[in-house]
Amino acid sequence: MAPTPDLAHPSLNRDPDIRHAHSEDASGLVGLPDAVARPTSAAEVADLVAWCAARRVPVTAQGLRSSTVGSPLAMGGVALSLEKMDRLIDIDPAARLAIAEPGINLGVFKKAVAEAGLFFPVDPTSENECTLGGAVMTNASGARSYRYGAIRPWVEAIDLVLGDGRTTTVTRSRTNKNTVGYFGFQNPVDLIVGSEGTLGIATRVVVRLLPRPAGHLSGMAFFATLPDAVVFVQEADRRARGSRAVQPRCLELFDSGSLDLIRPRAGSLNVPAGARAAIYFEEECAPNTLEDRLAAWLTLIEACQGMADDTIVATSEAQELELKRLRHALPATMNEQGRAARAAGGMKLGTDWAVPLESVGPMIETATRLADEMFGGFYIRYGHIGNGHPHFNLLAEDADGLAKARQAIHAMCLEAVRLGGTVTAEHGVGKMKREYVALQYPVWVVDAMTSVKRTLDPAGILAPGNIFEPTPS
Ligand SMILES: Cc1cc2nc3c(=O)[nH]c(=O)nc-3n(C[C@H](O)[C@H](O)[C@H](O)COP(=O)(O)OP(=O)(O)OC[C@H]3O[C@@H](n4cnc5c(N)ncnc54)[C@H](O)[C@@H]3O)c2cc1C
Repeated sequence: MAPTPDLAHPSLNRDPDIRHAHSEDASGLVGLPDAVARPTSAAEVADLVAWCAARRVPVTAQGLRSSTVGSPLAMGGVALSLEKMDRLIDIDPAARLAIAEPGINLGVFKKAVAEAGLFFPVDPTSENECTLGGAVMTNASGARSYRYGAIRPWVEAIDLVLGDGRTTTVTRSRTNKNTVGYFGFQNPVDLIVGSEGTLGIATRVVVRLLPRPAGHLSGMAFFATLPDAVVFVQEADRRARGSRAVQPRCLELFDSGSLDLIRPRAGSLNVPAGARAAIYFEEECAPNTLEDRLAAWLTLIEACQGMADDTIVATSEAQELELKRLRHALPATMNEQGRAARAAGGMKLGTDWAVPLESVGPMIETATRLADEMFGGFYIRYGHIGNGHPHFNLLAEDADGLAKARQAIHAMCLEAVRLGGTVTAEHGVGKMKREYVALQYPVWVVDAMTSVKRTLDPAGILAPGNIFEPTPS
């Protein structure tokens, strides 16, 4: 990329305080933009992007910068924050659609949807700290992705500003049969979702909604060993397909280190001393079936050697929020400790690999051995185990620990790919996981993706450094 020219566009702010305020996300990386833009309309976005394209000035979109992989960080050029484009435009209960600007806080958006009597099922742990647009552009997912998948299938349309300032709308085809052209292009919405700001700037998003579930139960089951917890998850998944099934909508792991982290924060919730693993679960059910459904869960916990008598069942919304607060405390605490380690050259590194559920037991075993042997520092294992997607968060105290953590994670990613999994299932590649892309895809796939990028972003100004190595000028 050429040196940044004089940034004399009227909507660009070069105040050093503002630039610094937009220089960090949750990854621990720092990227100082030369200027910040906070447009209020799609027309402003298009005007600015066209202006930047003509001068080859990089433009990196930012939501609320909760990324853990540096994807909203502008390493120079313009940080284009969507924070002022945060209107909820419409909720249409009959069509079960919602239309919003990308900068709306996802938690605020979901609350408005719930108040309209509907349900948006995508639930990243960070939902109150991220935007709808950021979630769309990272194909975000969450605990309930076990049942509902990531955000991609819920996105019906996106208004986009492409890398040369052109505007376009991509809309999901409503047929379930289509033989025109290559599969990856048949629904261009699918191409744009998860593109990490590299193909266009979203200025309006339409998503599909569901009727609000009649009710649900949630709880936390404790186990004396982590392998017992894994068996419980696989058995719950198997029974979900059977007739006397439990029907989980999420299955979230807490390992022994995670339980040690939450114990002092658990308040009135009892985290039993003998527990070395726990699974947080939810199931949707009508209030009059709650007791039966709960009995099915307790039977399953017992059958899988769980500590059934210690199971926490959330009997009120307040208790469920408490459990969710504890779940959120895991990445939040590790991120905080990672920030504190930065002065010594350390940071938190989180894995995001996933494997098919049948392989998650051996994968956790191998990854644990790699973390012990190659890293040797403090780490926790937690998260979306129902999707074969537990996170390992490694806390590197200094530069030496960081190098070792990187080696261990690289080896884990190789193993995940060998087992038919992925190197990143949720947070995207950003600037921190580029080295793993080649572990998963042959060169021709990466070449095909970069040629799509060249078509939509001919000057190569959008989010340089995300997914692919930045192109030299
Ligand atoms: C404590 C914690 C827990 C987390 N838990 C989860 C989780 O459970 N599941 C999960 O998926 N993620 C999780 N994340 C990661 C992160 O919150 C998500 O990736 C989130 O969707 C990012 O949204 P954001 O608004 O913060 O976007 P940002 O971080 O600002 O940006 C993310 C990417 O989207 C692009 N982008 C943002 N807005 C636009 C736009 N309008 N047009 C084009 N590109 C855009 C940016 O360029 C960047 O590439 C977690 C993060 C933290 C800190």
